[in-house]
Amino acid sequence: MKAIFPGSFDPLTNGHLDLIKRASQLYDQLLVVVGNNTSKKAWFSPTEKLVLLQEACQGLDNVSIQILPADLTVNLAREVEAQVIIRGVRNHQDFEYEQTIANLNKKLAPEIETLLLFADEKYTALSSSMLKEIARFGGDISELVPSVVVKAMQAKLSGMEV
Ligand code: ADP
Repeated sequence: MKAIFPGSFDPLTNGHLDLIKRASQLYDQLLVVVGNNTSKKAWFSPTEKLVLLQEACQGLDNVSIQILPADLTVNLAREVEAQVIIRGVRNHQDFEYEQTIANLNKKLAPEIETLLLFADEKYTALSSSMLKEIARFGGDISELVPSVVVKAMQAKLSGMEV
């Protein structure tokens, strides 16, 4: 069976990576899909996010990564013949948000299931937005993201007006 894991990944965190590893053990193939959440201000371009994901997922043989074309996630799922959409839940706010999206997707594509995985306890307080705040003010992010992301965030910050 094949699953897709769509997200903004701006940038990838250890919380996302933990979900990717766990989901890759549940399915024959996992396709991570880099989207653009238009309601959030992005630091990284889709291509930059793709490259970071590719580097961090090296060694996960059944995981591939692509950018979401200008299309609905369920249409992509159909196109690549994935039966499942993976999403993560850290808390009750995530639960409500994910429930709404899952219900919408179910209406659009009744044959595709959404599977929610609980965040590992270590990562329930970790979000890409919080991470960007910590990085912006010089906090230590090395425990929160893969090392390639630490470097990419430092590079962004050095070229950014803070
Ligand atoms: P989106 O803008 O699509 O919500 P995100 O990159 O913020 O994109 O999140 C993608 C998915 O990963 C969401 O389902 C989110 O709940 C989940 N997620 C985000 N951070 C974590 C984390 N620390 N642990 C587990 N899941 C997470």
